[in-house]
Amino acid sequence: MNSPVDSDTAKPSNFLRHVIESDLDQGTYSARQWGGTPGDAAHHAAGMPDPARVRMRFPPEPNGYLHIGHAKSIWLNFELAREYGGVCHLRYDDTNPEKEEQEYVDSIRDAVAWLGYDTLLADNPAAPGAPNEHVYFASNYFDFMYRAAEYLIGAGLAYVDEQSADQIRNTRGDFNTPGTDSPFRNRSVEENLARFRAMRDGQLDDGAAVLRARIDMASPNINMRDPALYRIRRATHHNTGDKWCIYPMYTFAHPIEDALEEITHSICTLEFEDQRPFYDWLLDRLAEGGLIASPHPRQYEFARLNVTHVITSKRRLRQLVEEGHVDGWDDPRMPTLAGLRRRGYTPAALKLFCERSGVTKSGGWIDYASLEAALRDTLDPIAPRAMAVLDPVKLVITNWDELMGAGFLDDCSAPVHPHHPEMGRREFKFGRELWIERTDYEETPPKGYHRLYPGNKVRLKYGHVIECTGATKDAGGRVTEVQARLVPDTKSGTPGADAIKVKGVMTWVAVADGVETEIRLYERLFSAPQPGSADLMEELNRDSLLVTTGYVEPALANAATGSAVQFERHGYFVADGPKRFNRASSLRDSWGK
Ligand code: ATP
Ligand code: MG
Repeated sequence: MNSPVDSDTAKPSNFLRHVIESDLDQGTYSARQWGGTPGDAAHHAAGMPDPARVRMRFPPEPNGYLHIGHAKSIWLNFELAREYGGVCHLRYDDTNPEKEEQEYVDSIRDAVAWLGYDTLLADNPAAPGAPNEHVYFASNYFDFMYRAAEYLIGAGLAYVDEQSADQIRNTRGDFNTPGTDSPFRNRSVEENLARFRAMRDGQLDDGAAVLRARIDMASPNINMRDPALYRIRRATHHNTGDKWCIYPMYTFAHPIEDALEEITHSICTLEFEDQRPFYDWLLDRLAEGGLIASPHPRQYEFARLNVTHVITSKRRLRQLVEEGHVDGWDDPRMPTLAGLRRRGYTPAALKLFCERSGVTKSGGWIDYASLEAALRDTLDPIAPRAMAVLDPVKLVITNWDELMGAGFLDDCSAPVHPHHPEMGRREFKFGRELWIERTDYEETPPKGYHRLYPGNKVRLKYGHVIECTGATKDAGGRVTEVQARLVPDTKSGTPGADAIKVKGVMTWVAVADGVETEIRLYERLFSAPQPGSADLMEELNRDSLLVTTGYVEPALANAATGSAVQFERHGYFVADGPKRFNRASSLRDSWGK
């Protein structure tokens, strides 16, 4: 938003575009070379037809459903790939055997496809448009990662440390103090190899040893103080089953995944900035050994997306699901892509939001209001309009039978969209009994109240002008029925209809043809503006869902699930099953206030 605009694309520029353009100008990746025998890497070279292309990746860990923060990363990587004629890989970073499940693998694929990036995954010249061409699994590289680890051991760059986890932590030092060498640091290559193979072969218990890089225990960057590369963990992996009892650490695995897929620009969030020296160290060493091509991918960091009142952590979202605070991962209150979709968010709205939120190096919180604004701005031009009554009370036109005849229903109509006559008109009835909003009647009107109160005239939108005569209440004082008289010759669209001036215009639905509907209204799931800092459950808004029974125009009786509609004065809604609507957002200006 605050960055310069490229004149040729008219898109806000960002530092990543500059990096990519400079690499394309200089042909950084067009002469990618293998330092040694590329035999180890043969499996990946085959799938990479054009090494000069920009190659991005979106690498989720399949340990939960994707959320709005991931949408930002997906949008960024896929759009940059598209813009520069490259490709983007969907890569499951499934190196942790314990938390990963097929359900999450599938949900991630669905989310990426829903956002509209499925075709960009396809890059198979033999079968253009074929899906799945650029879907990858990090676990498919376990064999390679193991060989890379043995290579490092052989080059004196890794060792098996058999200290306890506590000892390793305690000898790492801190910001002010250098770490101290492990007593196992100077083992011979042969001994290291033997111990590493013993780890692999299940001869050591979980936690009894780790493979560590041998870099520099006095490095000012703690991540360079001999980070762990492999750990022992007897767990069944969703892809490799029980083949392995040792698993690579994320910091070791991730650069290798990028290198094998010949990624050019590896974009991640800022918390990985301190990992970049290790990323480069590892890939430089593997390139020297001829295990990967040179130049290797480079990592670039941008500020993660934080949205006020929203949690963006799969772990904490999973907690909400598992503890039953929400109705599953796709609960419309969830900031997951599955939840946002059921809430009425569209891919276009989310992409506009991502674009507006900018790509910068400095973090911060984006106001939830801007997410809603992006939704409104994208739905306003396309969403059909309809009237709906969310909190109904009956209005009776007491002179209807006398003026119009008993049982008569008057035909009314309105444009489907005020600015798009080509979208046609919607038809509905006006009759003796109508549903109106309970808040549209006041016995004693507050100052500035222009809706129904005894003696006041109001226009029922697209219908007639009425004059309120009073209301009936139950024993508890609650209004059960409002009465009014029709003012003749005031039907909207007929000559002279505007002769009587009124200050209030109200929405309504006829009892005769209104469709009874379940309507779900949502408040924020977290009342805290920046949730996640303290006890999450304390910050949870227990009144985030209000379910009501209302009435909508007959045109919506069979609204297709997922279709959006603007209920005049109430906001944007999405059909969420037969005769059920979820509110996606209210309108910018609340009506009648
Ligand atoms: P979580 O804590 O929700 O699990 P994560 O970063 O651990 O988030 P990954 O599955 O590893 O989740 O994320 C895949 C990609 O999405 C990574 O490149 C990560 O940087 C990016 N990403 C995750 N959260 C955000 C966010 N809030 N804003 C931008 N990018 C994000
Ligand atoms: Mg993660």
